[in-house]
Amino acid sequence: MSFGQQLIDWRRELHEHPELSGEEVQTTARLRQWLTAADIRVLPYDLPTGVVAEIGTGPKQIALRADIDALPIVERSGVTFSSQNPGVMHACGHDIHTSVMLGAALRLKDREAALPGRVRLLFQPAEENFGGAKTLVRAGALKDISAIFGMHNEPGLPVGNFATRGGPFYANVDRFVIRVTGKGAHAARPHEGTDAIVITSQLVTALQSVASRNVNTLDSVVLSVTRITGGNTWNVLPENVELEGTLRTHRTEVQQQVKGRVQEIAAGFASAFNAQIDITWYAGPTALVNDERWADFATAVARETGYETQHAELHMGGEDFAVYLQHIPGAFVSIGSASPFGLHHPAFNPDEALIEPAAHYFARLAEKALQQI
Ligand SMILES: [Zn+2]
Ligand SMILES: [Zn+2]
Repeated sequence: MSFGQQLIDWRRELHEHPELSGEEVQTTARLRQWLTAADIRVLPYDLPTGVVAEIGTGPKQIALRADIDALPIVERSGVTFSSQNPGVMHACGHDIHTSVMLGAALRLKDREAALPGRVRLLFQPAEENFGGAKTLVRAGALKDISAIFGMHNEPGLPVGNFATRGGPFYANVDRFVIRVTGKGAHAARPHEGTDAIVITSQLVTALQSVASRNVNTLDSVVLSVTRITGGNTWNVLPENVELEGTLRTHRTEVQQQVKGRVQEIAAGFASAFNAQIDITWYAGPTALVNDERWADFATAVARETGYETQHAELHMGGEDFAVYLQHIPGAFVSIGSASPFGLHHPAFNPDEALIEPAAHYFARLAEKALQQI
C-alpha cells in the first residue's frame, strides 16, 4: 500500500470510531498498535488516554503534537466512512491531524539514523474541553523539549495553502454567567416587584457597548451573550434571570479591561434598579502566542516544501496548544482543508488530499528544527 493510502486508511478508521474528550480509549489503543507495528518507541507515560512516542537519539529534542478527540455531534457529512459511534463525530478534523502526525512519524522513522536528535510525538487527548495539553504537560511530556509544532486544518483555505503568524494567534477564551436577582411579582402589578427581565434586557444592550465604546478599536475583542434564561409563565414576573456568554481577546490587558467594565456596568445596574447582580467568570484557554522566530521558520520550510504561504489573520477561537507555548517556544500553523462546511459543523468534510503533503512537511520541519537548536 502506498504511503498516502495508508494515511488515508488510518484517517478513515479514526473517523469511523470517534471518541469524546477524555474517552479516547480505542483511539489510544489503535495509535499504540500502529506506532508499535512501525517499530516506533511508545514512551511509558502514565496517561489514561493519549500516546507519547519518540524517534531518534541524542540530547537535542523537539516535539510535534496532534489532538485526537472528537465532538458530540450527529454526523451528516454523507461520507462512506461516517461515524459508527452515534452522536459523536470528528467534526474538527482531529482525525486528519492525527494521521498527518502518524505520517510524519513514519517518514522520520525512515530517516532515524540521520536525525540530529530526537522527535517526540504527542498524540494529545481532550483538546475540545481544553484539558488535554495540561494533562500532558503535568505528565512531563515537554521535559527536555526545545520547541514544539502543531497544526489545525483550515476549511476556508484551499489544499496546498499554509498560514501562520508570529505573536498572538488564537484567542483568550472566557465564559461568564450573570445572575440578575430582582423581586418577583404579579405581571399586572409590576410596581410591587423588581423586574429582572427588564433589567436583563437593558444589561445585554449595555454590555455591547464595552467592545464598541471602551476598548481601542485596533484591539480584537468579541463579547457575545449566548443564553438568557428566566421566567416560566405569562402572568408572573420572575425573580431571577440568568445570562451566559463568552469573551474573546488576544491581549491580557484587554481581557482584564473588559472584565472590569462588565463588573462596573453590572454594579451600576444593580444600584440603579435595586437588584442584585452576580457574575461568575470561567477561564478557558489563554491566547495562543507563537514564537516569532519559529513561526517564520515554519513558514520558510512550508514554502520550500511547496506550500502557498500566507500571513494568518487573528483567530477568535480557542486552542489548547497555547498551554505548551506558555512553557516552551514553538509555532502552531493552519493548513488548508477546503471543507465546504466549517469546523464543528455536522457536514464538515475536509479534503484528505492535505494529509500526505502535510506529513512530509512536518517530518521535514522536525528534522530542520533539530538542526537549528
Ligand atoms: Zn474543535
Ligand atoms: Zn480542533
